[in-house]
Amino acid sequence: MTATDLEFSQHPSANPKSDQERTEILADPGFGNHFTDHTVVVDFTADTTGAGGWGNARLEAYGPIALDPAAAVLHYGQEIFEGMKAYRHEDGSVWTFRADQNAARLNRSAARLALPQLPENIFLESLRQLVTADQNWIPTREGESLYLRPFMIATEAFLGVRPAREVSFRVIASPAGNYFGGELAPVDIWVSRNYARAGRGGTGNAKCGGNYAASLAAQLEAEAQGCKQVLFLDQFNDNAVEELGGMNVFFVFKDGSLVTPALSGTILEGVTRSSVIQLGKDRGLTVTERKITLDEWRDGVASGDITEVFACGTAAVITPIGQLKDGSEVIGAPDSKAGPVTMSIREQLLGIQTGTSPDTHGWLTRL
Ligand code: PMP
Repeated sequence: MTATDLEFSQHPSANPKSDQERTEILADPGFGNHFTDHTVVVDFTADTTGAGGWGNARLEAYGPIALDPAAAVLHYGQEIFEGMKAYRHEDGSVWTFRADQNAARLNRSAARLALPQLPENIFLESLRQLVTADQNWIPTREGESLYLRPFMIATEAFLGVRPAREVSFRVIASPAGNYFGGELAPVDIWVSRNYARAGRGGTGNAKCGGNYAASLAAQLEAEAQGCKQVLFLDQFNDNAVEELGGMNVFFVFKDGSLVTPALSGTILEGVTRSSVIQLGKDRGLTVTERKITLDEWRDGVASGDITEVFACGTAAVITPIGQLKDGSEVIGAPDSKAGPVTMSIREQLLGIQTGTSPDTHGWLTRL
């Protein structure tokens, strides 16, 4: 069977949540706490030459995965994932944002983690299958969406260190409210001096679970300092700003230009990041991808050259950065508010995603 004629067999849940349970969850979904009734699974099997194919595509009940205790993912972390959202528009239709970009990034991550390439049409059809089955899980209030988590794991049971020949691609979905909870307010950031997230030639530009496991010690440090996110630096490159644990970073300069760290190979190429670059250019702003150091951040805020700093990613959309805490030094004002450029780009991006602003770049795909 080829990728294009892959049929998804249907095994609907015999035990879906009741309307009342679902309504209660949707009243206050939070982020990543609850999961819908179904999941989609597609399996890959290869022969010893590595040649193989995808098959046994199915929609089934959400539930625990039966894995052999020797499954490669459990030992060597051969795993990648994506994060994206489905939005319900006012007319009831359901859309995803730049799903082709997530499909492409999944395949870049797959190449880095020696996992098989997944044809874009299987990726998209998997999303469509899941969202169609669980469409009454899509929240409808402003700023809410159904978060989709596609992921790929090495399921083959063996303990030699080599790429697995049995792999599963899965998608789960989770109703999502505001990532940081409550009203949009600037988030405080902790500068990670003790831990790096990535190094040259490593996996920093892949979306693999190991990167996030490696960021948790820094995240704990941040929380102990009252901060919600960590800023990672390239300590071997003049403390160049890289990214946050789960978001890219933008600087607004007083001349109106935007700067974001260049893709160095050690940061994740965010879909939101590339969308903000495009929206900035559409507005006639100068948008530069370049090296920007912690010193430039500190001096720019002090001199007034940098007027706003924001973080961006699928989960949190665009979130203003408040204070940056670097040891005992604090950069930025404690009473900082979301700046006008940050808020205006945020509104436009959310407007495109939710169907209230024109989608001039054709970024939406109907599910
Ligand atoms: N950097 C990291 C480390 C991330 O985990 C994410 C979230 N996927 C991002 C940046 C932002 O990427 P995107 O805009 O595609 O969500």
